[in-house]
Amino acid sequence: MATAVARKKSTPEIGATEPDAITKNAWKLRRAGGLKVLEATALENLGWLVHGFSTHPGGESKLPVASRHGERKKPERVLNLGFTDWDERDRVAENRRKFVRAIGAKKMRVVTLQQIHSDLIRRVDSMRPIDDALPGDAMFTREREFLLAVQTADCIPVLLADTRRRAVAAIHSGWRGTVRRIAAKTLGRMQMEFGTRPEDVVAAIGPGIGQCCYEVGSDVVREFHSQFRNAREWFDGPFDALASGENDPNWLPWLTMAPPGHPPPPPRVQLDLIAANRSILIDAGVSAENIFSSDYCTHCRGDLFFSYRRERATGRMLAAIGIC
Ligand SMILES: [Zn+2]
Repeated sequence: MATAVARKKSTPEIGATEPDAITKNAWKLRRAGGLKVLEATALENLGWLVHGFSTHPGGESKLPVASRHGERKKPERVLNLGFTDWDERDRVAENRRKFVRAIGAKKMRVVTLQQIHSDLIRRVDSMRPIDDALPGDAMFTREREFLLAVQTADCIPVLLADTRRRAVAAIHSGWRGTVRRIAAKTLGRMQMEFGTRPEDVVAAIGPGIGQCCYEVGSDVVREFHSQFRNAREWFDGPFDALASGENDPNWLPWLTMAPPGHPPPPPRVQLDLIAANRSILIDAGVSAENIFSSDYCTHCRGDLFFSYRRERATGRMLAAIGIC
């Protein structure tokens, strides 16, 4: 019986070599204004847009020590870009100013949403003002001067650029958004409203929790199994058993002869959300060579990223894109 799942595809520890994509120059970790900003070269090269994925070094916020599991000794100044309970609004606002300046979007209007792990997609333009209380998990625009920004701390941020129509999108895709194909649906809205062709789209999949660290249970497996014929490819572990309910924790103790009251832990699998989002974009018509994934795992790389799974009370990163 498999109770522990073999770990594979672990991203490097601090000080080790960087993920493959970095060494191939598809991604760049750029220092700017005391911060480190992760950029996708393919988006950077377009020239008519600004973009960036934030990391936590620098900034004005003090992350509570207790949430660090002893990883760090004293409160550290971090770039928290989300208005979280533990942080002060002024500090977050100042952090956002720093980040926006660092990616060259000082004059742009930052647009964020009340993210709810949905497939709600908002078009942003001067006719439709958006405030940060509006629920949704993806935004797209063809107008200049809006910086579309999604907040993450393990979930997968996806940025899209239509190179022909000059339109952009920012998407928040956790497992719930992924199972609802939010990236493909955003592309669908851009096709409908702007005439975007998938073959003209460049996609950057930013840092999120890697398969190495993302254990999920049968609830998640069944949702993916019901939605995708190739879902099995994105899971490491006993996918079929969990999908079919054979290893349902309710009767597993009978099978393993565990004494009453001591059921073994239910088997777990590890989900590759990055591979799932990549596959969803390819199915929607985006060519594989135009999809760039940073391959950074937010859970492994505490030196750069916040991770909700690792810390619970943690900060938020921003993945932002806008037409300049
Ligand atoms: Zn990891």
